[in-house]
Amino acid sequence: MAIHLKAVLLIADGLGGRPTDYYGKTCLEAAHTPNIDELAKRGVTGLLDPIKPGVRPGSDTAHLSIFGYNPEKVYTGRGVFEALGIGMNVKEGDVCFRTNFATVDEKLNVLDRRAGRITEGAKELEKALQNLKPSQPDVKVFFKASTEHRGALVLRGKGLSDEITDADPHKTGVKMVYAKPLVSNDSAMRTAELVNEIVKQSYDILKNVSLNRKREEEGKPPANILLLRGASIKTEIPSLKELYGVKGVAIAGGALYIGIAKALGLETKKAEGTTGGADSKIINKAKLAVKELRDGKDFVFIHLKGADSCAHDHDAEAKIKYIQKVDEVVGFLIENLDWEETHLVFTGDHTTPIVYGDHVSDPVPIVFVGPNVTADDVEEFNEKSVLKGGLGRISGRVVPILFGYCNWLKKYGS
Ligand code: ZN
Ligand code: ZN
Repeated sequence: MAIHLKAVLLIADGLGGRPTDYYGKTCLEAAHTPNIDELAKRGVTGLLDPIKPGVRPGSDTAHLSIFGYNPEKVYTGRGVFEALGIGMNVKEGDVCFRTNFATVDEKLNVLDRRAGRITEGAKELEKALQNLKPSQPDVKVFFKASTEHRGALVLRGKGLSDEITDADPHKTGVKMVYAKPLVSNDSAMRTAELVNEIVKQSYDILKNVSLNRKREEEGKPPANILLLRGASIKTEIPSLKELYGVKGVAIAGGALYIGIAKALGLETKKAEGTTGGADSKIINKAKLAVKELRDGKDFVFIHLKGADSCAHDHDAEAKIKYIQKVDEVVGFLIENLDWEETHLVFTGDHTTPIVYGDHVSDPVPIVFVGPNVTADDVEEFNEKSVLKGGLGRISGRVVPILFGYCNWLKKYGS
């Protein structure tokens, strides 16, 4: 009788690097990673173009592609995932925005796009904004604050469009900029009008909130207007359960990743002591993953953010140190997963080199391990060693390949 197989997707965000990272080596080459190298010894390695060769991935589009979806079809912008990620209910056809609490003067000149990176009173501001009421009565507005100045806003109603510009000047010392339709149809014009009405209302509501009066007395910038950007419409995305019949869970901290997981129908969990920062206890994600698999889940996705953040900061030493923490996570998984039944893939969602400090289109190393995987001769895991790997160079579709090893794919043809 066939045993029931299990699958683990482990993503270290921004894992890939370039030889210019650290004295002629990539950070992954420079890091001491005995456990990650052990994966290479046991598995098949290669290079992954997260979307396809010559495309510079965002983390959101890269993850969709890695999960086997075509971002050109399902991606409309990050607003949808951010809104889902902070716990908002988003339905098909809803238009979502990322928002900032910002500071304007009485002539609506934008003085601070983040209201002094406000850390207080988010709930009070959120509560006040529940009174946003568009004059088009068939449209509902939902707002939720997340951390500091950040939040998300969702518009629900028939015939709304995400083809509008931002209500955000994207700089300070200038007049407020309003949304404009990007196409000349009724939906886009109506949505832009709605957005601008909401922004004006947000000023009328927020300027009178007691928190803002107090902040002004203290000489702090008041959070007296909402900026809306990144309009994106929720499209229909078939869930991983519908496509493959798997029961899955995502273990992630960042709102964007939680949102993507939710959009794909995964349950989401946060591990204790994880912060997204350098001090994050990411080993707890591995512990939680092992527990979830033992408790009956078929599939666990673990997202680790730190390597990408270090690379955006041009900090090679921090990225190397973080990769060594990822190595401990891998060590725990090697020790505690049931290798007679589990397939694991480890990779990054893109390359983030130290000198450039942002995502590039270079491919990123990848390794698959498990009972049905034929190992190659590669014994280390980095950008150079995997050039000799058995997987060659693949484009996206990491999760379908992983699920293929687990015998979860439907046959194409007869
Ligand atoms: Zn990323
Ligand atoms: Zn990044």
